[in-house]
Amino acid sequence: MEQLEVTLVQAGWGVTIPISWETAVTGPERFYLVPAPALAVKQAMVELETKQPANRLLDIDVLHEVDGVATVINRQAVDAPVRKCLICEQPAKACGRARTHSVAQLQQRSSELMQQVLAAHEQSQRAAWLAQQAERALLYEVSTWPKPGLVDPVEHGAHLDMDHYLFIDSSLSMTNYLTNSALPACISKERI
Ligand SMILES: [Zn+2]
Repeated sequence: MEQLEVTLVQAGWGVTIPISWETAVTGPERFYLVPAPALAVKQAMVELETKQPANRLLDIDVLHEVDGVATVINRQAVDAPVRKCLICEQPAKACGRARTHSVAQLQQRSSELMQQVLAAHEQSQRAAWLAQQAERALLYEVSTWPKPGLVDPVEHGAHLDMDHYLFIDSSLSMTNYLTNSALPACISKERI
């Protein structure tokens, strides 16, 4: 849901959430109202569904109004290939209809995909935490006084082009850089 909302916002489309079932026994489900051309939204959603392997578990339907009826737009309308089976890459509907794979096989494959997402989420959380610690260190450092020759809240020392507010702004501008720097170490856990 977070990825979907970021996609919509980055596309420049405002979005409202009229209804949401986050604890439904069938899995979380949510409706969005998107004031944008339906085919463009469908195109963006197909791209999101195929962006990474686990996104194939998402089922994002785009509906628009045709003669007063909410109608689903299919993938062919945006020249996208039909959904592939999670296991054998054949069209998903064909495998579903023929029951080519057992429920246990499908559950196993779904679990693997979800584990990948959770691991990636954990890695990015850890990288964000490390970046936060680095920024905290920068802000503590500039707050320390006395510190002869260096920038602090009382004086800018030898740095005529810097004061402590500019130092704070500079530190905060580094968030993405610090997070990206920390990420490789978080992906291979043994290095931390
Ligand atoms: Zn299959």
